[in-house]
Amino acid sequence: MSELLNVAEIFGEDVFNDKVMQERLPKKVYKDLKKTIEEGKELSLTTADVIAHEMKEWAIEKGATHYTHWFQPLTGVTAEKHDSFISAPMENGKVLMSFSGKELIKGEPDASSFPSGGLRATFEARGYTAWDCTSPAFVRHDAAGATLCIPTAFCSYTGEALDQKTPLLRSMEAVSAQSLRLIRLFGNTTSKKVTPSVGPEQEYFLVDAAKFMQRKDLIYTGRTLFGAMPPKGQELDDHYFGTIRQRIAGFMKDVNEELWKVGVTAKTQHNEVAPAQHELAPIYAEANVAVDHNHLVMQTLKRVACRHGMKCLLHEKPFAGVNGSGKHNNWSLTTDDGKNLLDPGKTPHENIQFLLVLTCILKAVDEHADLLRESAADPGNDHRLGANEAPPAIISVFLGEQLEDVLEQLISTGEATHSLKGGKLETGVRTLPDLAKDATDRNRTSPFAFTGNKFEFRMVGSRDSIAGPNVVLNTIVAEAFAEACDVLENAEDFDKALHDLIKRYATEHYRIVFNGNGYADEWVEEAVRRGLPNIRSMVEAIPALTTDKAVAMFEKFKVFTKAELQSRAEIKYENYAKAINIEARTMIDMASKQFIPAVIKYTKELADTVLAVKAAGADAAVQAELLAEISGLLADTKQALTQLMKLTDEAAAMNEGEDQARFYHFDVVPAMEALRAPVDKLEMIVDKEAWPMPSYGDLIFEV
Ligand code: ADP
Ligand code: MG
Repeated sequence: MSELLNVAEIFGEDVFNDKVMQERLPKKVYKDLKKTIEEGKELSLTTADVIAHEMKEWAIEKGATHYTHWFQPLTGVTAEKHDSFISAPMENGKVLMSFSGKELIKGEPDASSFPSGGLRATFEARGYTAWDCTSPAFVRHDAAGATLCIPTAFCSYTGEALDQKTPLLRSMEAVSAQSLRLIRLFGNTTSKKVTPSVGPEQEYFLVDAAKFMQRKDLIYTGRTLFGAMPPKGQELDDHYFGTIRQRIAGFMKDVNEELWKVGVTAKTQHNEVAPAQHELAPIYAEANVAVDHNHLVMQTLKRVACRHGMKCLLHEKPFAGVNGSGKHNNWSLTTDDGKNLLDPGKTPHENIQFLLVLTCILKAVDEHADLLRESAADPGNDHRLGANEAPPAIISVFLGEQLEDVLEQLISTGEATHSLKGGKLETGVRTLPDLAKDATDRNRTSPFAFTGNKFEFRMVGSRDSIAGPNVVLNTIVAEAFAEACDVLENAEDFDKALHDLIKRYATEHYRIVFNGNGYADEWVEEAVRRGLPNIRSMVEAIPALTTDKAVAMFEKFKVFTKAELQSRAEIKYENYAKAINIEARTMIDMASKQFIPAVIKYTKELADTVLAVKAAGADAAVQAELLAEISGLLADTKQALTQLMKLTDEAAAMNEGEDQARFYHFDVVPAMEALRAPVDKLEMIVDKEAWPMPSYGDLIFEV
């Protein structure tokens, strides 16, 4: 047995958390910092100096030699630049270790190489990272030694957001302010802040590192671009929640330990639907902390996998034909005194407040379905959403039978007098039902499902940052709350106005509610009848960012300016085009240098065999037939390859932007599929010994 692990002891040991701050910081400094964290008060430089000094001393005790401002540019991954703590040598040739308040609060990485979508001219490359003191600093241990990581936001010289974090923090402020307005209407005078709580469930695949290294597609793109289905897939459902194999269990143990040390509440782990697929979920946290922690989870999964001789695939669709990976984004709103606005509650006033919150969210999701869809778009997710697997690309909300019934009563009679499996209850406003939890089953096919006291947004891609989806969720809900408060704060008869508003929202936005099977073809037709958008791909989703209604909303709540939105749209088109260009070129490379040569060699062997068998006076019909079939597919391969090369060159020569991205999507991607088809057929009939790389079976069943 390995040594025993004391989770309580190691949890958070590498985090500069509240406990450490309380112990180490002078009382006054600690108080000032808490004020900044809790109320957004500005931090003075003298206070920052003291904090920086203590943080450095603490980090050095943990072995840290460097610090870094850890930020989230629009590349989709995190970025960091390391500086050591050493200062200029003294006269005696020695150095001191120093870290100032200025260095803590503000960094200035050369920003010229990060995507800015035209927001920042290259000659004006200044970008600033600013400490997000609401997400704690931590020390990371890896091959580089120990590094003090300071979570930061990243802005341009003129204050435009160049990252995922800044708009997230802005959206959190927006939803907090509007939520407070709303709960004040129901008599809450004590809560000071409302924070979105987020719990992302991370799916991933593990494959053997040695096999991974034999596949150029996995190396360059993170997914397989060729590969025939093995005889067995996921049809037996024997992997889902199955016993975790020892090699994987050992990996999970190390992942948990590393995550716990940096304060990530790794909680649930299990095998997922596809062979070699797994999931890890933390306990939910404040949205910005959850975003940081999710990045840590993804990085830790990758790092630890390498140590275990494996590779962790975070791509949304590493293997065609089996389940892809997503990230369920569980979301709710919690007051600083612990009340969840999405909890149906036990008392009448909470109940009616809940119905208002719920119908506001229905309204928000219905009016901004396109934005939510866009927030989950990335090149990998195009293979999931609206493709062969769920969730569909159509946004709908699952409420469950009980809530749906309540809404139906509200809409048809103007009052809800009973709830399924629940008793009648006086609300003091109108007769509204109490809402018992778990009165309904779960629905796994809905992209946006109410699950007891939270919404679960299931579209997000496994590799994507969850910042974007939460920015949209926070802002659209802030807008709906604001509109409701505008009405209710001025109402002469509050009870009547409230009742009318809930009824109106429920009626007007009922079309977004769908409790049926989201995977069924009938739903696609039904959604068309309801007028719900069905946005099938990333390039078709991006325009949602810059519609008039999106610009008006994001500007109203100071989450994005129009220029920031336009720049984000530009960056997304560019990122998409680049991703597909790399995939296409990888396919060209593999087909030209690996598959075609291997098949040519094999046909020569077959041809020699045909001659030899005939010379021996035997029947070579089978060999000859196989030779003809393979030669035919080889010709198809060559033709498809030529076509893909032509289209890829054409695409690459275009100017960056929407047209180019659309060309990649509508012309290059089909050409990629056309090349894949004959190669996958060849894989099924060519001698396995002659095939130049590990098969799907080797990759997902032999980890
Ligand atoms: P599942 O959906 O797989 O059954 P759970 O519902 O237990 O799993 O939780 C999934 C994730 O949702 C976890 O990360 C959990 O911490 C998070 N979660 C639970 N309650 C809330 C909440 N009120 N707000 C946000 N996230 C939550
Ligand atoms: Mg879930």
